[in-house]
Order: sequence, then structure tokens, then C-alpha cells
Amino acid sequence: MSSPRLYIILGTLALLLAACSTQYPETCPSSTPVGLMDADEIASDASLPFRFPLEQSPIDETLYYGWFGVSNQCTPDIVDCYEYPERLFQAAEDYKRPAGTPVYAMADGTISFSGPAGGYGWLILIDHPQANLYSLYGHLSPSRWRLKVGTDVERGDLIAYLGDSDENGGSKEQPLDTHLHFGIRSGQTADYPAKGEWRYMAGWIKLCPQDLGWLQPSLVITSQKIPDGGYPQPKVGFFTRWGLDILFASLFMIGGLQFIVSNRKKTRFLLLIPGFIAIVAGIVLQNRGLVRSNLLLVIGILILAIGIYYYIRRPITKLHDQS
Ligand SMILES: [Zn+2]
Repeated sequence: MSSPRLYIILGTLALLLAACSTQYPETCPSSTPVGLMDADEIASDASLPFRFPLEQSPIDETLYYGWFGVSNQCTPDIVDCYEYPERLFQAAEDYKRPAGTPVYAMADGTISFSGPAGGYGWLILIDHPQANLYSLYGHLSPSRWRLKVGTDVERGDLIAYLGDSDENGGSKEQPLDTHLHFGIRSGQTADYPAKGEWRYMAGWIKLCPQDLGWLQPSLVITSQKIPDGGYPQPKVGFFTRWGLDILFASLFMIGGLQFIVSNRKKTRFLLLIPGFIAIVAGIVLQNRGLVRSNLLLVIGILILAIGIYYYIRRPITKLHDQS
């Protein structure tokens, strides 16, 4: 076997091993909302760098119903109780409010995303480079007001209104409680992959939110402590953060290279490799709860089937050629 091919195979195996070796914790540090009593005071004190994104403090339990980083175990003080078969963690805090409630920027910054994002309905992300944070505001109202990406905002600027229950990520058939889903993440929007759940997921995730750089919003806002140079980047492994993109890229790159090398003799077995890679990647990513893993699994099975077809067919063609 020539060395480039060997490197391709060894490299692929290394990628898969790295993806498979990612450890997921059984328990996360659980947290309860902090300092919500002081929300109004914090919002009105313009000398502070951060504020809560709503006008009234979210202390009333009919107004507050989300939490951060706790497992899927329902606690007695939760107004709405979610039931999930798996251990999932919420990487944001939810504040229940009527549709049309104004939402304010938690700090000075620049809008880095503004658009529809699945279950979030209309979503806004704001980069705050001065603290190396970005903030996330979900379930907004696209019918009322839409700010554009690149808009600079100041702390306390109106950025959106909460959406109606059929436009905030819900529909007429399945209306969603009107509420603000508010998250804070260390780093900037561009530090995360450009597509997929990895970037936006702040609802129900399998990893501890803290491990992915999600910070407890009420804790950040009430502490008002910005470390020198801003909040540190999360200690997430390179492959944990970029693995999906790398796997996709490798899959198609290897598929292309494969097509070239497999036209030569003695390398027909390589036809089977891309399919296996895609299937393993699909299983790994399914374990991580990423929806695109289903697609990857289907692609893998198709590629493998094509590989098997050619693997079986080739020798016959070859006999013909030699006769
Ligand atoms: Zn939420």
C-alpha cells in the first residue's frame, strides 16, 4: 500500500477515535436562578456592564419557569415540567411573558445572528467582545420587528418583542408558551461552527452546558465580574466542537480520493471504506443527539451498498478485459 493511502486511512481512524473517545458526564453541577430579586435594580443601574433582558424582575414563579444546567428531573418549584427519557440539560433561562413583551440587549455589542432557527422561532445572537461573550434571545416575534445582522446595540437597547405562540417556534397546531429563552455563552458567535445544533443549541443538550461554554445567565448578570480579557473560552475538545464538520468534510474528501485510487488494481477493498466511515460517524453522532446523524447514516448505507456492488462486479469486468 502506498503511503498517501495509508495516511488517509490512519488519519480517518484517528478522527473516528477522537470522536468516539469524547466522554459525556453523568451529572452536571446543577444551578438555580441567582439574584433574580435584584433584576430591576440591575437593569436600572446603567453603570453596570450587564442587565437582565426584560423590564420586570422574573421572580414570580408564574413568570419564571426555566432553569439552567439542571438535569431532566423535575423539581417541585418548576411551573412547567418537561418529561424526557434521557438526561438532558437546559443551557439557558426561560422567562414566561406575554407576546409583545419588549426584549433588551444585555450589554453593548453587535448582532451576529438574526433569523429563524427551528424551535427558537426568530432568534437573535449578540456578540459582546469586551467580555468575550455572546448572548442568545429565542422565541422572538418576526412579525413585529426584525433587526439585521451587523447592527450595533447598546446595553438596554430594545432588540425585539416576544413572539406569539404560533410564531415563536410553535405553530397553530402546537402552540408554544410565550417566553424568552435567554442564554449566555463564552466566546464569540464565530468561535462556533457555522451550522447545526452545535452553534445554536441552548435548549436541551446532552452535554453539561458548562462544558460547552454556556454560562448561567442570572449568575453572569448578578456577579458583573468580567475577567481580564473577558470570559475564558470553554475547555471543549477540538473534536467535540468541530467533529461534525470535520467528519462531514473528511467523508466527502475521502469519497473523492477513494474514487480515484479505486480505479487501480488491488485497491478495490477501499471502495468499502467510505461507507463504513459514514455509518460509524452516523452512529457516533446519533449518540450525541445530532439530527443530521440520521442523514449521515442513510448516506453511509447508500455508499456502502454502492461499494459492495462495485466490489462484487469488478472482478468479472476484469476477467473480460484480460480475455
Ligand atoms: Zn428555554
